[in-house]
Amino acid sequence: MAEYEDGVVLSASCKSVVADAVTHILRAVGENPDREGLVDTPKRVAKSYDELLAGYSVDPVALLNNALFDVEYDEMVLVTDIDFHSLCEHHMLPFIGKGHVAYLPDKTVVGLSKIPRIVDAFARRLQVQERMTRQIAELLDELIKPKGVAVVLEAHHMCMSMRGARKPNALMRTSSVLGAFRSDARTRAEFFDHLKTK
Ligand SMILES: [Zn+2]
Repeated sequence: MAEYEDGVVLSASCKSVVADAVTHILRAVGENPDREGLVDTPKRVAKSYDELLAGYSVDPVALLNNALFDVEYDEMVLVTDIDFHSLCEHHMLPFIGKGHVAYLPDKTVVGLSKIPRIVDAFARRLQVQERMTRQIAELLDELIKPKGVAVVLEAHHMCMSMRGARKPNALMRTSSVLGAFRSDARTRAEFFDHLKTK
């Protein structure tokens, strides 16, 4: 993700706190943090978190505000298969999947590239998928003021694949539908039909 600069979330002193914590974990699991393969691991993990949690440094409102355009277009705008990865806040393990976002404009549209960036801004935090889905929908609703918004996220959760239930193929699907997508069954069906046929 080139747009995220190194060091935007964690200061040098925060990174060293994270690195120290990783050293403690390595010792606690019976490893030797001084052996060759692990000697730089605490620093690498801290640097990874800086990138994986870069969403905290992005203001999603500012991201959209300079990309709203008045257009005479009132059909559904749909962006599908937006790859994302996030960290679940319960286990700090990755969940990885795709987002599908639709809205029905009411005179205003948003620059196309902004929708994946909004997904990323919310994904690169400690998250639960349900909240992330709602946050994306509510932000778009608030800023674009469309007739309706629909967001579907589908993801595989490593905390369910690698531990716990150990079901690697289980796919979690969440949706948030607002405005016309909630009140009008035909609009909602059109959106979900698009997802089926894509
Ligand atoms: Zn989890």
